[in-house]
Amino acid sequence: MCGIVCYAGRQNAAPILLEGLKRLEYRGYDSAGIAILDSDQKTAHVVKSVGKVAELEKKLNLRELPGTCGIAHTRWATHGKPTEENAHPHTDCTGDLMLIHNGIIENFAELKDELIEKGHNFRSETDTEVLAHLVEEYLKGMDEPDLPEAVRKALGRVSGTFGIAVLHRNIPNKIVVARRGSPLIIGVGQDEFLAASDINAFIRHTNKVIYLNDDEMAILNSNNITITDLNLNKIDRELETVDWEVFENEKKGYKHFMLKEIFEQPETVENAIRGRIIESEGISKLGGLDPVLNRLKNLQRMVFISCGTSYYAGLYAKYLFEILTDLDVNVDFASEFRYRNLRIDENTCVVAISQSGETADTLAALRESRRKGALTLGLVNVVGSTISKETDAGIYNHAGPEIGVASTKIFVSQCTILALMALLVGRSHHLSINEGIRIIQELKKIPDYIKEVLKQNEAIRELASQFLNYHDFLFLGRNLNYPIAMEGALKLKEISYVHAEGYPAGEMKHGPISLIDSHFPTVAIATQDYSYEKMINNIQEIKARSGRILAIATKGDNSLSTIVDDVIYVPRTVEVLQPIVNVIPLQLFAYHVADLKGRDVDKPRNLAKSVTVE
Ligand code: GLU
Repeated sequence: MCGIVCYAGRQNAAPILLEGLKRLEYRGYDSAGIAILDSDQKTAHVVKSVGKVAELEKKLNLRELPGTCGIAHTRWATHGKPTEENAHPHTDCTGDLMLIHNGIIENFAELKDELIEKGHNFRSETDTEVLAHLVEEYLKGMDEPDLPEAVRKALGRVSGTFGIAVLHRNIPNKIVVARRGSPLIIGVGQDEFLAASDINAFIRHTNKVIYLNDDEMAILNSNNITITDLNLNKIDRELETVDWEVFENEKKGYKHFMLKEIFEQPETVENAIRGRIIESEGISKLGGLDPVLNRLKNLQRMVFISCGTSYYAGLYAKYLFEILTDLDVNVDFASEFRYRNLRIDENTCVVAISQSGETADTLAALRESRRKGALTLGLVNVVGSTISKETDAGIYNHAGPEIGVASTKIFVSQCTILALMALLVGRSHHLSINEGIRIIQELKKIPDYIKEVLKQNEAIRELASQFLNYHDFLFLGRNLNYPIAMEGALKLKEISYVHAEGYPAGEMKHGPISLIDSHFPTVAIATQDYSYEKMINNIQEIKARSGRILAIATKGDNSLSTIVDDVIYVPRTVEVLQPIVNVIPLQLFAYHVADLKGRDVDKPRNLAKSVTVE
């Protein structure tokens, strides 16, 4: 969600900031802006634009922007429409102070009233603008302008979340950044310092980083950096070297990143299991969990918390852990979980699942669980992210950056790793070695099974082309495949803007069946497992009401094709792993419907990749 990039160094800042913004584009945003202090350090340029970074680029004449110090932003609107006035940077009354912000200032309305009373002139509808005027107000009262001190005072007045960067025309060569609840990472280069909300923004410049924690500030210029808490007490912070590959901003011949990522999934599963299984013992080895193995042995309860697609990975984990372990298993949306009165104690393990590791609701729910004494684990993709740092232990996906906003390969990676986790916990409780070996043997074959489904890409596109005129879809699945039905529906609605509902198949007759007619197709996950017969009953019920049915079926199940209208066949694996294979055709189906409808598949409207507001 939204992005921040800052540069203070010896090179021209504008091209570096623009490149940084482009590398954050995948996160989703609706407008962009940049502020540069000219080389004379006295002239400031602020340029903003609605829409893509390319629009901003068109407005900039880089040769006229020789400054070496600047800040840049992509906005995902929370307060006020995506307009040029509302885009960041925001300035104070004088135009001398420039400020960018990720997050939400919750008490902005009262602060705004107070500042208007004092004569401040507001130009935007954003919550952010109060910060610019508040810092201005504190600067006014100083004999010698002290930007960090003014920022400190301003932040003392606000509630909510922020990642901010501030620049001032009369305070040359200095950028003040601070965070609470929104990520900020400092990049330390040769005679240059960068700051960004996402390491991808500057990883080409340097992989030497300092992670800023919540309630910390940094003051950067081209010569040095100072890290402090929000009271300006200095903090010593180690420089870390990040092992994060520079992601290729290339689609490698694919039309969209999403399609490329769908096709990467055999490799994603290989990366998720590499070095993590001991086949002869039917167990997994997850190095990140080594420090907490004893606590895992004594567990009684597991709770999975996450949002969006990651929530469906958690839902899959609930079924999986119930089958493979003897624990009580619970799953919830992080945004709901954090306000519930749940029984959580030292025998409870709370697993936070988040691609970015920055999801605001998941982080808040995690902190609440810690407070209650739970063992906290993280399953995240982004190395060094806040969730990975705040949990007792955790596992990385090692899936490389996912650029498509609608998650595909990370979901499959999450499910794979959750299966490994379930094996680890199950085998340290009651699961037999034979059962463990059987699952591992199949896990190793999943990449080939996925390849088999991917070979049907063209056929699935052809099928998708027959569904373009429908406005509503129902996705049905049972038990382990219920989360997959939910994920299939989510994928379709996210990127094609077509209404789709996922439902547990047995529930269909308690409500949604009234929607069914020849204009309301159903995608039914009907692979052969213990609930197959019941699934067939549901399919018959829909057929009896003239509903069109597209089924996901087990290869070789020829009888199903006589009942349903269309079938996509998938290879059979063990029941607990079958969902990982079943989701692939649903991803392809959603992708092709969206693409054939001409949607912006990689950056669907209104969505953001990493949701850092609550
Ligand atoms: N709340 C701010 C706004 O609406 C910041 C949004 C963002 O994080 O991009 O402008």
